[in-house]
Amino acid sequence: MKLTILGCHSATPSIHSNPTAQILEIKNHMFLIDCGEGTQVELRRNKVKFSRIRHIFISHLHGDHYFGLVGLVNTFNLLTREAELHIYAPKGLKEVILLQMKLSGSWTNYPLVFHELSSNTSELIYEDDKVEVFTIPLKHRVYTNGFLFKEKENERKLDINLVTEANINKAYFRKLKQGFDVENDDGVLISNEKVTKDPLPSKSYAFCSDTVYNEAIIPIIKNCTVLYHESTFLDKNESLCIPTKHSTAKQAATIAKKANVNTLILGHYSTRYNGYDEFKSEAQTVFDNVLLSQDGKTFNFE
Ligand SMILES: [Zn+2]
Ligand SMILES: [Zn+2]
Repeated sequence: MKLTILGCHSATPSIHSNPTAQILEIKNHMFLIDCGEGTQVELRRNKVKFSRIRHIFISHLHGDHYFGLVGLVNTFNLLTREAELHIYAPKGLKEVILLQMKLSGSWTNYPLVFHELSSNTSELIYEDDKVEVFTIPLKHRVYTNGFLFKEKENERKLDINLVTEANINKAYFRKLKQGFDVENDDGVLISNEKVTKDPLPSKSYAFCSDTVYNEAIIPIIKNCTVLYHESTFLDKNESLCIPTKHSTAKQAATIAKKANVNTLILGHYSTRYNGYDEFKSEAQTVFDNVLLSQDGKTFNFE
C-alpha cells in the first residue's frame, strides 16, 4: 500500500502549498482522493499515469477538495480516454460538473459515472475481489464523508517444497491458497496448515478530512493500519475548531489512540503557520507513531 500526497493544505493554493489531493495505491488500484485546485499539475509532477485513475473519491464540496475536478475530467477527454471514470461524491457534484461542462460546450468521450452520496451512516460504496471502500461520515460545515479503503483478506501462501513433497496436484493449489484441505495424488487428505503459511496481514487506510473532533468515527476506523486525520490547527487556536468544524493535531492523535490505529498522518494544515514540527510534537503528547504529510511526499506501507 502506497500513499502519495499531492496536496495537504487547507484554503487556497499557493506557490508552496496545494489543497487536498492524494493518490492511494492499494492492490492493483490507483485511487484519487479529493481533487483540489492544481491536482492535475501535481499528478504530472509526481509522474502518476492519468489512465490508471479509474475511481475518484471526493469528501465534500468545499473548493479546496474538488475545484480541480472539472479540469481533470476535461483533460482525460483531451487525452482520448476511453475507460470509465467513477466519481464518488456528495449529492450535488454531478449537477455542478455537468453544468460547467454544458456551459463550456464540453463533453466526455468516455463514460463518466457519478455515485452520489447522501447517507449519514457508513456504507460500502465500492467492492471487488481484492478491495472494499466504505464511507466514514464526518462532522463538518457541509455534508462530508471520509473513506476507508480495506484490502480483503490475503490468500494463504504455498510452501512449494512441502506441496511437492506431499505429492499434491497443481490443480488443487487454488483451493490450498483459499485455506482448504485437499487430497494428494495417492488419495491421502493433506491438512492445509502442513503445506501453507499464514497470509500477509491485510492493510487498510482511513482518510478523514475535514472534520471536527468526532468519536463516532472510532468504531468504523478501529485497528486500521493508517489513519490520515485532518489537523487544521495547533492547540493555541483550538477555539477555532468548533465554529469552523476542524480539528487540532492533538485531537487527531486522540482519535488515533482511541481507534488503536498503527500510524497517524497529519494534514490539512492551516496556512497561518510557518512550519509543521509543532503539529507533530503536539500530536505525540498523545500518540507516538505520527507522520507529517507534505506535498509531493510518498509513504510506503509494506
Ligand atoms: Zn478543507
Ligand atoms: Zn471543508
